[in-house]
Amino acid sequence: MANRAYNFNAGPAALPLEVLQQAQEQFVEFDGTGMSIMEMSHRGKSYESVHFETEALLRELLNIPDGYKVLFLQGGASTQFAMVPMNLLSPGKVGAYVHTGNWASKAIKEAKMFGETAIAASSEADAFMRVPSVAELNIPENAAYLHLTSNETIGGTQWAEYPKLDSVPLVVDMSSDILCRPLNVSQFGLIYAGAQKNLGPSGVTIVILKEELIGKPSMPVPTMLQYATHAKSDSLYNTPPTFAIYMVNLTLKWIKKSGGAAAMERVNREKAELLYEAIDGSGGYYRGCAQPGSRSIMNVTFRLADEELEKRFVQQSEEAGFVGLKGHRDVGGLRASIYNAVPVDSVRALVAFMKDFKQRNG
Ligand code: PMP
Repeated sequence: MANRAYNFNAGPAALPLEVLQQAQEQFVEFDGTGMSIMEMSHRGKSYESVHFETEALLRELLNIPDGYKVLFLQGGASTQFAMVPMNLLSPGKVGAYVHTGNWASKAIKEAKMFGETAIAASSEADAFMRVPSVAELNIPENAAYLHLTSNETIGGTQWAEYPKLDSVPLVVDMSSDILCRPLNVSQFGLIYAGAQKNLGPSGVTIVILKEELIGKPSMPVPTMLQYATHAKSDSLYNTPPTFAIYMVNLTLKWIKKSGGAAAMERVNREKAELLYEAIDGSGGYYRGCAQPGSRSIMNVTFRLADEELEKRFVQQSEEAGFVGLKGHRDVGGLRASIYNAVPVDSVRALVAFMKDFKQRNG
């Protein structure tokens, strides 16, 4: 299709064209019902079948075992920063956190409002350009959970492998890399992710949690912020974000049709390798931010010699049809977000642009 930008936005981000076209076809009338999916009751048969099918698709694609609940919540991953400690902390227990950068720090800040926290490991001394190794983790004995940020969307680091913990539940913010690769869900106590990078549009947050973690919180927690409320009612306690969940449904069907989590990982690695090769092979013209063992396959961050040149890169890339390459305002530099729905061809075009830019501005 003409007019589709090379979209490297960090989130909300590119969606598969096919998904957008399907939504367009069904936008005014859904499934012979005489109305849009946005116009119907969340308690009716048509919507409910989308709702439960979306859960079933997630269970299938992530191989979620029995004993785990899948929730569709609102408030973004940012609300999970608070819901996790509100629901899982209790007197005498601490929330243990791995500090890997911007998003981890926001999770820690929220947890501090509800109880004691501990830093189990931090990469601050390395300017957050790496992810701590499992061996570095120092988890207090009275930890209620260990929280980590799977992929730091701004810094461009990602856990290549998650710690396997016996003693405490592992809680992971997977907002920017859920379903970018297969997962062993039984390794985790709780996984949360805003949908707007790999799974669909903004407006819905996915939570996958072990049933044994769902209980009565030890502190006063509003009904809407208790996992138990949503777990008991299959995320239909109140009106869910029906349209966003429908879009996640279509996106999951696209992932399934494309070969599932393993196929996503293959393509994501191919895209990431193309970009990191372009950076590493540029003779120092482009410099990757994250340390090699911690490089993200979702957000590729890099720099040029100075900010002036980076500005020129952003400007010329925009003129050439590329969107979203300016790094996050907190860290500067450049960032290409290459989530599941970003086609390999967009990445090839970017690599060609980078080579050309270097030649013209060498
Ligand atoms: N965690 C990570 C890793 C993120 O990338 C983001 C959003 N960019 C958030 C949390 C916050 O998500 P939301 O905007 O859905 O609250």
